[in-house]
Order: sequence, then structure tokens, then C-alpha cells
Amino acid sequence: MSLWNPWHGCHKTSPGCANCYVYRRDDSIGKDASVVAKTGDYDLPLRKNRYGEYRLSPDDGVVFTCMTSDFFLEDADEWRKACWEMIRFRSDLSFHIITKRIERFEQCMPPDWGDGWDHVTICCTCENQEMADRRLPVFLSLPIKHREIISEPMLESINIEKYLATGLIEHVTCGGESGDNARPCDFRWITELRRECVRAGVPFYFKQTGAKFIKDGKLYHIDRALQMAQAKKSGYSYTPGEGSADAIVYRLPERKHLFERLSASTFRNRFHLSEKDKEYISDKGMDVIRKHAEDFVSKRLAPENPENDGKQTPMRGHPVFIAQHASACCCRSCLEKWHNIPSGKVLTDAEQKYVTDVLMEWIMREYQK
Ligand code: SF4
Ligand SMILES: [Zn+2]
Repeated sequence: MSLWNPWHGCHKTSPGCANCYVYRRDDSIGKDASVVAKTGDYDLPLRKNRYGEYRLSPDDGVVFTCMTSDFFLEDADEWRKACWEMIRFRSDLSFHIITKRIERFEQCMPPDWGDGWDHVTICCTCENQEMADRRLPVFLSLPIKHREIISEPMLESINIEKYLATGLIEHVTCGGESGDNARPCDFRWITELRRECVRAGVPFYFKQTGAKFIKDGKLYHIDRALQMAQAKKSGYSYTPGEGSADAIVYRLPERKHLFERLSASTFRNRFHLSEKDKEYISDKGMDVIRKHAEDFVSKRLAPENPENDGKQTPMRGHPVFIAQHASACCCRSCLEKWHNIPSGKVLTDAEQKYVTDVLMEWIMREYQK
């Protein structure tokens, strides 16, 4: 990756800016980050080294553009035109532009932008639900060839399912906030967002934990040097179809504890076997019911991204369906929330057996009532 910062300095515009790293770094050296000025690197894409080669080479990967400001800042309206020309000229490079000002995109587009340039990716940030709902509809309506979403710092649980469903988002990145005044990031928000990406088949990158990370309700202070490493180690980044979730280490719940939690849930407790269900079980016998359960699990739950996930289990029609809702084995979201089994992986034989065992235990308990 390369960096190209044609200007430096910015103005805070939304909650995600509160602890902006440009401000933090400038403050530490007594500089005023609200003063926006062109940098010595302004024409970096055109600069060559002493061998006559461009300093920015495609071999170095993506060129992250304007990382100490915002490319669509009003202060830079005059400077941006020449930048677009340099970007157009260097079509051998891949430029990534991250912005909190997507609403200014249209008035800042170059005249020959058309339906977008192949080598430019626009990354729209959304740190909370309000910003997601304000910026993403605009983002999706614009002529852009490659779109990514960045939720960093992630400040709350964010649902972007309907935006992902458009098929226009190529990648989602999320992470916590760093620095002394960092706001906490909850692992639950990360896994929820990841599940949305898994369902939509969109690659997901869990970049960093941030300095204050909540897991299972407990707050952890993570050293700066470990924030990216811990996120990587969790295995929760996701690329569709690559088995990236197979390496996630998790622990299945203890069975007794699981059944106690299920019976304390008003929703789960609504489900019971009817007399008709019980007659069906008597008629078929438990071995046959187990075969049905195995079959449902392998067809509707075991694939990496099951069809219709979240809606694949009918509310009635078979005792196993009832057991699935009652024991939170109805979809991959519930399997992750209640049983810790990560979404986005093909269930192993052992995991399928575990789910079938839970279902059969619930059925046995109900049947004997
Ligand atoms: S838009 Fe980005 S660079 Fe500008 S103040 Fe906000 S966080 Fe900082
Ligand atoms: Zn479910």
C-alpha cells in the first residue's frame, strides 16, 4: 500500500471525528489540524525517482488518498481538480478515497467521470446508524464503480443489511477507536455486522479492536501495539468461499447452562410440542425423528451461507422445526448468538452432531412432559 496526502488538515464533521487521529497527532506537535494546506506531496503521482520511474508504483498496491484530511473538503475545491487529472493520468494505480463527505461527491466529480473510473474506489464511512442512514443512500445513488463501507471507529451496533442487499458494496471494514480517549467498541457489534456481510456475501475486514474493547460484557484495555493483532487473531474477518472462519476458536456452551438460559427466554419458551407433534413422534419413533433432524441441519444450517438464512425454519409443521426455534438452532445468527458457532463457515460433522443432539434433547424433554 502507498499513501498520497495532497493536503493536510480537516474540520470535524460528525461523531466519528471526535478523537480524529490527525488532530491527535498534530496536537502532540503543537500544530493546528484545522488549518488546511497543500502538502509537498501534492503532485506525488507524477513524481519520479532518480531512475526516471514513478515513485508510486502499482507493485506497491492500493494508493490510500488523502488520509490526513478529507478529499471532498470545501477548502480543497480548487486543488482537487488537478488531483483528479493526476488520478486520471495514473490509471495504472488503484486509488482508494475514504470520505465522511459523500454528500459533496456529486459537485466534486471531474467533468469526464461518467459512471465512474475503474481504478478509483470510494469508501464511505459510517460510525453509527444515523450516519449510515444519512450517507449510504447517497453513496448508493452515485455513479461509482467500486464502493466500500468503513465503520471505524464503530460507535454502536449498525445495521446496513438493506444497503448490502443492493449488491453494490464490495467490501466492509470495521474496527474500534484508538487513543487515550477512545470510546469502547463491543465485539457483539462486530459479529452482528459480520453476519450481515456473510448473508450478503460481502467480504468483511475486522481491522482492529481499538483501545477499549468489550467482550461478553467485560471491558478490556488493549495496548496500541496489539489492537490490530488481536483483531486478526480473532479470525473474524471474512472472505466468502475461502473457509476463512474455520480457524475461529470458540467454545460450545455447556448443555445444562444452555437449557437454563433457553428456559429463561420468553421468546424461546413460547415453543412447545403440540399433541399432534407428540403423536407424530410416537408414530415415527425417535430414530426417524433424529434422521429428520440430521437432514434439516445438514441442508438448511450447515452450508457456509444457507439459503434464506434467518427465515429457513418454518414455525410449525414438524417437531424438529419447533425444537429449532425453542433451542435457538433455527438459523446461523441464532447458532452464533446462543451456541457461539461462527457464521460464515460450513458446519463440521461434529458441529452438526452437536446441533442435532441439542434438538433431540429438547424433543425428549418435551415429549416426556
Ligand atoms: S473527516 Fe476524517 S480527517 Fe477530517 S476531522 Fe473527521 S476524522 Fe478527521
Ligand atoms: Zn434464528
